[in-house]
Order: sequence, then structure tokens, then C-alpha cells
Amino acid sequence: MSFSPSLLPELIQSIATTIETNAEEVTALDQAIGDGDHVTNLQRGIQALIEQSNTISQLDWSEAFKKTGMILMSTIGGASGSLYGTLFISMSKAAADQDINLHRFAEVYAAGVEAVKQRGKTDIGEKTMLDVHIPVSEYLQQAATNGVVLADLLEEIKQVAIEGMESTREMLATKGRASFLGERSRGHIDAGARTSQLMICAIADVLGGLTE
Ligand code: ADP
Ligand code: MG
Repeated sequence: MSFSPSLLPELIQSIATTIETNAEEVTALDQAIGDGDHVTNLQRGIQALIEQSNTISQLDWSEAFKKTGMILMSTIGGASGSLYGTLFISMSKAAADQDINLHRFAEVYAAGVEAVKQRGKTDIGEKTMLDVHIPVSEYLQQAATNGVVLADLLEEIKQVAIEGMESTREMLATKGRASFLGERSRGHIDAGARTSQLMICAIADVLGGLTE
């Protein structure tokens, strides 16, 4: 099965819906160990994507990722703006001149996640969005190599994302604003990990619906 960028408006809308539905909870998380603006930052980016989604959906994947990254970079702000911009712009470079199937997507996403690690000088275990993106990317690469039924893979990805999000609760924050709290950052889920998990689950649900 191959997916085309014509899916993007539906994917973006599903992301907008899940962030809106969980906005209060995520804001409370960011207020506990950050400055409380993560949801509004993200929603600015998502709204800008919605406005451009018809244009984006007519591009090829590489151009679509590039435009997405540029829009997110210029609208989200905060730490997460440059990191999401980096994710998609690096995915665009990795996707150049490629047809996107599952195997290629796994590689493209891994290249994006690697660039975010470098940009944020962060690895797994530091209580950030990467505690969701790194395990999801690793799972996806392994599943794409071993060959898994797509519907099962999408369900597994949701579980991996949820476990990654939950894992941030007891971590000590060493990057971003939460790191200013030191030991007091423990006991709270990272807001950026929660929104990453929500977005990944929303994408998996849309793609899962297409496989039924
Ligand atoms: P800001 O922290 O500038 O207010 P946001 O509130 O939009 O920006 O985003 C905060 C989220 O960004 C955090 O919850 C965390 O997941 C993520 N984050 C912050 N710094 C880093 C980093 N160096 N590497 C990866 N993710 C980070
Ligand atoms: Mg913030």
C-alpha cells in the first residue's frame, strides 16, 4: 500500500482535533514544568498548515515535508518550533527523488529524528518529545525491515508512542525549560512528549481507517 500527499489535509485535521480535545490537559502539563504555552504554540502551527493544506497536498512528499517544516518553523515559535521545523526539513532532504513506501518512510522519519537530536543536543531519556519520536522511529524501522501487517504495525506504533510518553513522567529533565526545575521536574509527563504521542496516534488512526 502506498500513501500520497493527498492524505495530508485529513491527517492535519485529525492532528488539530486531537490537540484541541486534549488542550487543557497538555497546558496543565506544560504549566507544571514549563511555561504553559506549548498548546498555543502548536496550534498556531497547525492552523497555518490547515490554511495551506490544499496547496501542500498537491506537492510531492519531499516538497510537502519542506513546506510543512518551513510553515512550522515560522509559526510555532518556542523550542518546539525550531525542532518541528528541523524534523520536517530534514525529512524533506531524505525524501528527495524517492517514492515513499513504508520502508522509505521509516528511513526518512529516522533521518528527521536524528536531525532533531542534533539540533536539540538531546537523546532518549531527557524528558522531551524525543522520548516518543526515538522509540517510534526505531520500532518503525525494525517493523519495516521485518515485514509486519500494516494494521498491526499501526496499533503497535500507538502503544510504543504511549509507552514513550508515559516514560517521561519519572525522568529528570535535562533539556528545555523543565530542566530549570532539576529534581522537581520528576513526576510530570513532558508536554511535548504528550503532544507528539497524541499526533502519532491520530495519524495511525487515520491510516488504520484506510486499511480496513
Ligand atoms: P518552550 O519550551 O520554548 O516554551 P514549547 O512549550 O512549545 O517551547 O515546547 C516545549 C517542549 O519542547 C518540551 O515539552 C519538550 O518536549 C520539547 N523540547 C524542549 N527542548 C528540547 C530539546 N532540546 N530537544 C528536544 N525536545 C525539546
Ligand atoms: Mg513552553
